[in-house]
Amino acid sequence: MSNTLRPRHWPRASYDPKYDPLVDAGPGHNRDHAPTYWVGTAGTPPEDDGPVSRDMDVDVVVVGSGYTGLSTAIHLAKEHGIKATVLEANTVAWGCSTRNGGQAQISSGRLKRSQWIERWGVDVAKRMHAEVCEAFEMFNEMIGSDDIDCDPKTGGHYYIAHRAKVMPRLEKECALLNETFGYGAKMLNREEVHERCARDMEAHGAMWEPDGTSIHAAKLAFSYVRLARKLGAQIHTASPVMGWKVVEGVHHLTTPGGTVRARAVALATAGYTPPGLNYRTKHRLMPILSNSIVTRPLEDDELEACGFQTKSPLTDTRTLRHYYRLLPDNRVQIGSRSAITGRDAENPKHLALLRKGLHRKFPALTDIDLDYSWWGWVDVSHDMMPRIFQPDPDRTVYYAMGYGGNGVMYSAQAGKRLAQIVAGQKIPDLPIFTSALPSHGLLTPFRRMGQRILYPWYYLKDEIL
Ligand SMILES: Cc1cc2nc3c(=O)[nH]c(=O)nc-3n(C[C@H](O)[C@H](O)[C@H](O)COP(=O)(O)OP(=O)(O)OC[C@H]3O[C@@H](n4cnc5c(N)ncnc54)[C@H](O)[C@@H]3O)c2cc1C
Repeated sequence: MSNTLRPRHWPRASYDPKYDPLVDAGPGHNRDHAPTYWVGTAGTPPEDDGPVSRDMDVDVVVVGSGYTGLSTAIHLAKEHGIKATVLEANTVAWGCSTRNGGQAQISSGRLKRSQWIERWGVDVAKRMHAEVCEAFEMFNEMIGSDDIDCDPKTGGHYYIAHRAKVMPRLEKECALLNETFGYGAKMLNREEVHERCARDMEAHGAMWEPDGTSIHAAKLAFSYVRLARKLGAQIHTASPVMGWKVVEGVHHLTTPGGTVRARAVALATAGYTPPGLNYRTKHRLMPILSNSIVTRPLEDDELEACGFQTKSPLTDTRTLRHYYRLLPDNRVQIGSRSAITGRDAENPKHLALLRKGLHRKFPALTDIDLDYSWWGWVDVSHDMMPRIFQPDPDRTVYYAMGYGGNGVMYSAQAGKRLAQIVAGQKIPDLPIFTSALPSHGLLTPFRRMGQRILYPWYYLKDEIL
């Protein structure tokens, strides 16, 4: 960080491991990044425009500086000539965008293609598939450009059957992908998984999807920051939006350093959306904790035992899936479900569960030292799909969120779509663009109780029944 910026950002509040979006009023103010492998290895974070320090009149405000907010700012500038003002409560890309598993997959929410068909019918499902394919192409173009430096490792995505009984379901999904959507997925048996992917001792086979790229999460976010600023966007960190009123059609957003008045506001706050920010996003997402660990670099004998043949993304078929991979510096990263509340996030039992997941796959890594451990809040929508939407045609408020743990790739396209609707352009007629995030309705107060019932049920279903 340059000396000119340091005094305006300093001192920074420490990272709060217990932060909980359902309990706390907001994500904080000028907090440090979570102690992730990505932040630890990305180099110096890029410069930003510091906190808002006076009242300002701007055209478009984007709230949240994760992948979605930054992609929105990039596309607003590049394709619509709009130089957005991004407001971030903490440090750049402080939320999930510096905490994820870095797995870019050919999906946009949590639902499978068969579930798209059940929900929308085959025609809409095919158009949705085309949207996601276009998104991956655009993502590849972005990460392949000189502006983005994020250590991409291609090789496809391995969706690994953690039990034999899952294989018929996976085979059916693979056939559907290929026959109905014209995709090129392939089934692998256990031996093929061990030869082509890794010696995952739980694997009973896998579905391989040709699209699947591992990236360095923070390098991607920091590159987006640099690109957005190069294109003319302003990124104000340590500037949480704490109040919002509309005066004669103009949005007045209150931050600690001044009020930002804007013609339009795009919300890209994902699982960190404060319930009090705007009634249109209130209780529309369920923030779910996911945790992640990174081992020390593997020794040669450990590498040999684990047999990794690829650095591309791997996930297993558990409902609360593990996502894992070999990192470029020969460490292993793995993540999965975590605590239910922020207050319980540091409970060692969650780390122990994740370690157990790692050891069951790779016994050679039992008790291996860990160099990094962190967690973050995934934005799960009530129907498991995201929305990029203008909830009220008479109001210039827009949002893009709800990827349910699958936002690394699709957030780039979501930002592009969000920029298009902010600029008044038409976007494809797909359910994720034409309907609001569903509300949790009467279930809202009972969501965590539901989680407490569902987690043991998922465990039973995944491991025993
Ligand atoms: C542990 C973990 C692992 C994951 N792994 C994967 C993966 O491997 N692949 C995948 O596709 N997805 C993964 N995800 C999900 C993925 O990281 C997200 O979908 C993606 O980063 C969402 O980006 P975003 O910009 O929408 O939100 P975020 O990056 O969460 O950004 C939201 C930002 O909004 C800011 N904000 C909130 N309220 C305010 C306010 N009032 N004022 C100003 N700023 C505010 C927050 O500070 C935050 O920085 C994972 C998530 C987690 C937590």
